[in-house]
This record gives sequence, structure tokens and C-alpha cells, in this order.
Amino acid sequence: MATTKNYYKTLGVEKNASFADIKKRYRELAKKHHPDVNNGSKKAENNFKIISAAYNVLSNKKSRLEYDQTYRQQTRPKSRGGNAWSDPSNDFDFSGRQKTGQQSDFRQTTPEEEQKFDPEFPTRGFDLQFMVDLPLATVALGGTLPYSYEKYVKCMDCLGTGFVDSEECSVCKGKRLVVESVTLDVKIPPGIGNLYTLRIPEAGGEGKNGGPPGDLLLRISAEKHPRFKRLKDDIYAEISISPELAEKGGPLEIETLDSVLTIEVEEETLTGEELRIPGQGACINWGNNRGDFIVKFKIEEG
Ligand SMILES: [Zn+2]
Repeated sequence: MATTKNYYKTLGVEKNASFADIKKRYRELAKKHHPDVNNGSKKAENNFKIISAAYNVLSNKKSRLEYDQTYRQQTRPKSRGGNAWSDPSNDFDFSGRQKTGQQSDFRQTTPEEEQKFDPEFPTRGFDLQFMVDLPLATVALGGTLPYSYEKYVKCMDCLGTGFVDSEECSVCKGKRLVVESVTLDVKIPPGIGNLYTLRIPEAGGEGKNGGPPGDLLLRISAEKHPRFKRLKDDIYAEISISPELAEKGGPLEIETLDSVLTIEVEEETLTGEELRIPGQGACINWGNNRGDFIVKFKIEEG
């Protein structure tokens, strides 16, 4: 019988836990279950994936809200499928992930060919995945984002051996790895779609025994803009104008995603009428082109 995955239970936090508590709890669990500090144990690896998946969802305001809503629906007698965050498999079973294409991108992925029988075999590090909320303009037009995250790196006190003078290393407690905070300047390509997953090669978990590092995957989500709405490559903006301007027409200064323009309001403009400004929307084709900016007039109550 399929059960509903309860991410709160997975992390052992209350449903109303603060983001700080969730983060704190995740760090405790991640340290305990990270496969690199559990001699590559398959069980630890699986637990780590589950914890990471839960954290990815609950650490982000938007995805947590979505999850809460889905979960509420799921716990009703008749569950419905199809939501990106729902997974009918049970709490500790991720085997179904390849069936739901949408999900595979932001789940913890497995290092290639785990070598179970030889702990000294070089293995690739883990991919790290996070959700990132960015301003609409950055998602629509691209930009550079300084991004900070934490990952396991080789303990330099014991040079990754776990021992100093045949005593257990006091810095990593013999685990050979320590958590390090990393900040990268991440380039956001112009015009990516919402929930695009950006892959930064080799910025993930450190490889073992000389294996290559994993990748960093950032799932980009656009923040809600107070005035603009993006529809594919076009940006829509509702602009209020005075009844006088609507009646007589005239110049009006407006803000677009990245500039200030003067447009000409036509005589006898009505609420709901649109003015299309070509080339002022979101980027298309990685910046070779741009969509349109559409002004939707709203006449202020006189
Ligand atoms: Zn150490």
C-alpha cells in the first residue's frame, strides 16, 4: 500500500517549524547520514537522499507551501497524483523517481557506479541540489548571482586520513571530511524558464580517493513581482493612468524590466487596452532576442 511521504517526519520537525529550525535539523541529519562519513554505506546514502529531498522542499518558502497544499490533499482519503512534489512511493523508497521526469532534476542523484566492495576505489562526489528564488528581472534577463552553500571537503588537518599521529583527528572526528562554506559567482543565462535547473559542473561534493567532484544543481524559481507578470517571453504590466490622460492622450513614463521609457497614451484609451512594446520583454534564445513588454492600461477611478 502506498503511503504519503511526510517530509516533516523525515526531518523530525513540527509542521510549523521555522526555516531556521529546519535548516539546523537538516544539518544535524546530513552530517550523520552523509555517505562519505559512513564508508559509502548504501543505507546511509539512501537516508541522505531522503533527508536532502525533504530539505530541498521544506527549505524553500514556495516549494514548502506547494508541498503543504499537496500533502493536505494527499492525506485525504482519495489521493490524486501528478503534482511535482508528490510521490506515491513510501517514505523511504525513491525507486520510482525515474518514472516522474519532472522530479529527477532536483533529487539527490547517485554517483556513477558506486563501488561497494572496494572502499579505496575512486568515486565521484555527490551532486548537491538547491532551490533558489531570484528576482524576475534576473531570471528573464540573466545575470550573476553570488551563491553560498555548504559542502563536505577533505579535512586538511589530517589530510583526509582521519588520523593525526595515529590518534583520531580532533577536527573531523575521524570522518576525514569537514563541512565548508563555499561562495560561487553563478551565471544565470538570459531568459531561462521558471524552475530551470542550472548545473555547475564539479561544484558539488568532493570525490573520494581522487574521484572527481559532483555537480551543483540550482533550481531557479522567479520571485513574484509586484507589478509584472511573465508569460513565456513577454512581460505584462498593468499601468494605472488618470482619467484625464486616458481621455486626452499624451506621454507617460513607464518602467520596464531594465529601463525607463516614455510611451504615448492614445486618446480615449479604455481600461483593459494594451500597448505592446517590442523587444522589452524576457530574453529569448539565450539573449539573442527579446520578447515584448505589454502595458495593460487601467484607468484610475476619477
Ligand atoms: Zn581530520
